[in-house]
Amino acid sequence: RQEQFRALRDVEPVTKDGKRIKLQMNAGLLVDLPQLADSGAEGIGLFRTELQFMIASTMPKGEEQESFYRSVLKQAGGRPVTFRTLDIGGDKVVSYFRGHEEENPALGWRAIRLSLDRPGLLRTQLRALLKAAAGAELKMMLPMVTEVAEIRAVRELMQKEVQHLSKFGHLLPKKLQFGAMLEVPALLWQLDELMEEVDFVSVGSNDLFQFSMAVDRGNARVSDRFDVLGRPFLRILRDIVRASERYQTPVTLCGEMAGKPISAMALLGLGFRSISMSPTAIGPIKAMLLGLDISKLSELLEPALDDHHSQQPLRDLLVKFAADH
Ligand code: PEP
Ligand code: MG
Repeated sequence: RQEQFRALRDVEPVTKDGKRIKLQMNAGLLVDLPQLADSGAEGIGLFRTELQFMIASTMPKGEEQESFYRSVLKQAGGRPVTFRTLDIGGDKVVSYFRGHEEENPALGWRAIRLSLDRPGLLRTQLRALLKAAAGAELKMMLPMVTEVAEIRAVRELMQKEVQHLSKFGHLLPKKLQFGAMLEVPALLWQLDELMEEVDFVSVGSNDLFQFSMAVDRGNARVSDRFDVLGRPFLRILRDIVRASERYQTPVTLCGEMAGKPISAMALLGLGFRSISMSPTAIGPIKAMLLGLDISKLSELLEPALDDHHSQQPLRDLLVKFAADH
């Protein structure tokens, strides 16, 4: 099978009914980069910058961050890379950077919250990213956004860094794409502001599911208790796609479900046209979509999502559709 998937590497990801799908991969270290060409991914849809911090024994300095990002971009060889700013705290522990013990670390001082409270840390990272992408395109996004105001606050810091760099004669990125991750349910009631505010949105379905269903993603006792393909979560995802279409703001999804064929199929049925996954999933997902008729699937999925009385789990319906087609 591995060989079959390899043979698909250079095949354009277009569904049976002619929809072009963007398949990107997730990464976080330089060792991941060769997989970009090997897998045939179009780019890196999620680059987890905290991994460089997690494997270091001391906080990486600005210059180290910059040269790391520069190597990533160089090795990506012109394929786009979406850098996510530091997402530490919660399940992502950095030994030399410890806040107070927290009773609920998943809901605690983490990700963008920590970055906004330590603006020196964030500005160092923003500057490193801006310098590393000099003359090229810089795509970056913020993790665990809860209020749109947080995005505006980071944008202001970013503008300050841009001014600072240009004042000292540095070459800037020729294009800056600024996005947010949608991982916290409160953002679902700010979809209009969100879509207006950013250049793109990336759904972090691992965390969005964890917080929507109130199940700890790291606790095996409960993490599989509810299905990502159940009606509640798929309705959430559908609302996100609809909002992105209203504002023509590109949306992608980079959680684990993007790399599982039945889940990825459901995402395409809901209207996602861009997903990002672990590199080993690119082949199987491409094989799935080459044989998929999205409009047929949507015809089945839409009414099933709105059915208030059905006892049939949606997953069964999706598995049956996959088997029949
Ligand atoms: C997610 O939450 O779905 C996500 C992609 O980010 P991470 O898994 O790094 O939290
Ligand atoms: Mg997350």
